[in-house]
Amino acid sequence: MPFEKLSFHFCLVILIFALGCNSNRNELSESPLPSPTQAPTLIEQDPRALAASDLRILDTMDTRGPRWVDSVTKKAYSKVFGGHTGSYVLDFFKERIKHSLSIPELAHLQQRPPELPFMKWEQDAETDHKSLDVSDLLAAFNIGSAFYLRGAINEAIVTLRFLNLEIPITTPRVGIMGFGKGYRKFEMIGGQVYVIPPEIRVSILVHEARHSDCSTPYSIEDIQKARKAESARQFIEELERTDCGYVHTFCPKGHAYEGIPACDKEPWGAYMIGTIYAMAATANSIAKGGDEYKTAVLDATVVDGFSRILDKKPKEILNGAHGDPILTDTGTLKHQ
Ligand SMILES: [Zn+2]
Repeated sequence: MPFEKLSFHFCLVILIFALGCNSNRNELSESPLPSPTQAPTLIEQDPRALAASDLRILDTMDTRGPRWVDSVTKKAYSKVFGGHTGSYVLDFFKERIKHSLSIPELAHLQQRPPELPFMKWEQDAETDHKSLDVSDLLAAFNIGSAFYLRGAINEAIVTLRFLNLEIPITTPRVGIMGFGKGYRKFEMIGGQVYVIPPEIRVSILVHEARHSDCSTPYSIEDIQKARKAESARQFIEELERTDCGYVHTFCPKGHAYEGIPACDKEPWGAYMIGTIYAMAATANSIAKGGDEYKTAVLDATVVDGFSRILDKKPKEILNGAHGDPILTDTGTLKHQ
């Protein structure tokens, strides 16, 4: 049974390199960039090994960036991660992501039961953007949340088989993540190689981890709406709240990502949480000085992240105008 389409609601599509990001595009092109001949050989790395290496930067993360974020907001960084050292970010991730699958392993993922009755609400979930193939840009997705939602709507406990494991999906905190082709070390644009800083990939991992939280379980009304919905768009647009799994919504008309489920209705959704980490990483890059390219790319990531949050101003969210982030899991399925 396919899961790729549904998973788009729990994923991160990395577009800043593909589309540019507002004015930062110009900054990037003027920054000192490695030329193709100077760049390391482009060998595709196993994303799991790359992620493990990326997370190691947290061992020596400067606390100046997190402290700066707290100082310019109502302690938004501490509210999310609990403290300023990199170990807090690592704990946030480990609490929410326990398994990760490479692209070839995803092909062998098995669901039990193989068929479920209510599936129309998943239709056409990936994108209705006509000119953009996002599959190459998809960095990572939270499979656990996607299958949790499938189980909740069908009032069934879905079991996943992978890597000799058999795991019943009773909560999005089961923490199963898949990698896409977009989780990579380099980007090639017009023959030029751009190195993607590891902090950007860590912000992706933090984003995915947030999808493992369920702050408001699906109500009976939500489940009924899902069962009647003819498409993913209809289901998402009718949902009262999207903070169980922090499911993404379609970006609206006129938005840079129009037609892609790459925006958030919730103030403290996956884009906000990943962006708060990226804010701290940007501040750290500035504090260390010297690497204009890295600072510009991280800054573009922050601008990009904030652009995904609909209806509310990021500054107001960070200053607590819309309440504090709820970081709990209350979505355990008890039925069956
Ligand atoms: Zn996501």
